[in-house]
Amino acid sequence: MKATNPLQKIRIPTCLTRPLCFLGMMLLLQAVMLGQQGSSTPNFIVVFADDLGYGDLGVFGHPTIRTPNLDRMAAQGQKWTNFYAAASVCTPSRAGLMTGRLPVRSGMASSVNRVLFPDSHHGLPQSEVTLAEQLRKAGYATGMVGKWHLGHQEQYLPTNHGFDYYFGIPYSNDMDRTRPLTSARGYWELWTREWDNLTPTDFNVPLMRGTEIVERPADQNTLTRRYTEDAIRWIREHKDGPFFMYLAHNLPHVPLFASEAFRGTSRRGLYGDVVEEIDHGIGLILKMLEEEGLVGNTIVVFTSDNGPWLPTEISGGTAGMLREGKGSTWEGGMREPTIFWGPRLIQPGVVMDMGSTLDLLPTFSSLAGVPVPGDRILDGTDLGPVLRGNGQSPRKTMFYYRGSELYAVRMGPYKAHFITEAGYRPNTRQEHQVPLLFNVEEDPSERFDISEAHPDILAVIRKMVAEHQANMVRLPDQLKDRG
Ligand code: MG
Repeated sequence: MKATNPLQKIRIPTCLTRPLCFLGMMLLLQAVMLGQQGSSTPNFIVVFADDLGYGDLGVFGHPTIRTPNLDRMAAQGQKWTNFYAAASVCTPSRAGLMTGRLPVRSGMASSVNRVLFPDSHHGLPQSEVTLAEQLRKAGYATGMVGKWHLGHQEQYLPTNHGFDYYFGIPYSNDMDRTRPLTSARGYWELWTREWDNLTPTDFNVPLMRGTEIVERPADQNTLTRRYTEDAIRWIREHKDGPFFMYLAHNLPHVPLFASEAFRGTSRRGLYGDVVEEIDHGIGLILKMLEEEGLVGNTIVVFTSDNGPWLPTEISGGTAGMLREGKGSTWEGGMREPTIFWGPRLIQPGVVMDMGSTLDLLPTFSSLAGVPVPGDRILDGTDLGPVLRGNGQSPRKTMFYYRGSELYAVRMGPYKAHFITEAGYRPNTRQEHQVPLLFNVEEDPSERFDISEAHPDILAVIRKMVAEHQANMVRLPDQLKDRG
């Protein structure tokens, strides 16, 4: 039998022998390849908890809060143990996440008012480039559900900062209080003596869709459930992607509310019920991603805006072995339980390198193929190599501001405190001529000051701080004007 050469069957189309036609074919091929590249840019979902402590998830060691869905995310993805919020309270922390810049740069950190209030005049300046605006440049649909807290006046709302869609409350769930305070303990009385009697009508918090108020007071009992449902609905509508969903739960920030299905179900009391309901919502989101075939092409990040609000006692969370909590520049104020999930995109493991919410803008921009703004200083770094499992985190430092003042700096394993102050206990501020120095890898609880033994390390840190401060350009304080 005569052997046939398969190559003989291939005929070069006559088109390719003509230069103009050949050029056309090449352009078509390039368009197809670019199209494939476009569809391979990952979708992003950021689930942001409010005032959740480092020790409040099962996978981060809580003994009586069950978080099976977050635990699964951590097992399939990356659990980050040295990941920081940009600040220790809501407004500046969120500004840092949205801009990739320390909040002092955008004027969103203030020593007059620590956060924005319902009578605040301003918000995140238009001159800032948000994560949503960045991803929009790459053709992403951008949706936000939950607590914004970067300005409630119309020009500052999410839909005027790069989001196509917004459903949520514009500031904290404990604001617009309608119940008068009666005891000398002032605000703190709410979370202890009178706790059992609190209802959603004790807070006249608005719920908004776009720029319209759709419910007031918001029924806080059902917010977590409704946020999850709304985020899922929006993602399904935009499943052809790419999309970015920023789901910022306003809990477990006090006042604590849970839907009926969760109230009284956890061993940790109402705080545990609330965290378990958030975890349940995560499970529903993961299930939806599976149903829609989005698992291989979506990155989900879970973290929190700041540490536990300790003066709220049993109504607040725990930073686990970390010192102090919300409002402070001790580790408990800013180190957050953080998980990156994305099968086929993220190399599973425990990451002990440093990372921060400041890094999300450069990381997502890089994954989406959008250059970061070149006309300003960014404080974030691209965590892509760590996510892919082929490199170390480029983040080697962290600056801890309280309001507009630099209190502490971490450089590698070392953390120097120039000023220390409890989150919410008055008269605890101390300035240190010789900064306190801790090795937070060996001593994560910041118990043993080693400054005397390491003047060399303090000298390097001081030099770094001097350079940081020399390059600091600050926009005017956006938080100070009220009333
Ligand atoms: Mg908070």
